[in-house]
Amino acid sequence: MTHRQAIQARERLLKRLPSTGEVLRGSLIERTTRHTSGCPKCAHGEGHPQSVLTISYPGGRTRQFSIPADLVPQVRRWLRNYHKLKEAIEAICELNHVLLRPDSPVRKTRSVPRD
Ligand SMILES: [Zn+2]
Repeated sequence: MTHRQAIQARERLLKRLPSTGEVLRGSLIERTTRHTSGCPKCAHGEGHPQSVLTISYPGGRTRQFSIPADLVPQVRRWLRNYHKLKEAIEAICELNHVLLRPDSPVRKTRSVPRD
């Protein structure tokens, strides 16, 4: 790949980027909370479904947020945006490796001698 091709590919990736600050890192986990006593729902084995956003940090630290049901679609969208951005950034970094090497010559089609 030539420098020119790498830059063109990078431009294409940049155009596809979601231009938004609506990003979230983490995973959305569904879990069921169950009370041991005094709750009719849990006594019937239903429990309380809950969505929890879990974010891990370097060093093994994590944070958790309980997400209200009406915000779950929004959280999923923000998580998707984050992944799209992250994938694009990774791809751009890979393309930039090309620019750190000497430019490779454009391959020419073999010329046929006329004589
Ligand atoms: Zn309960």
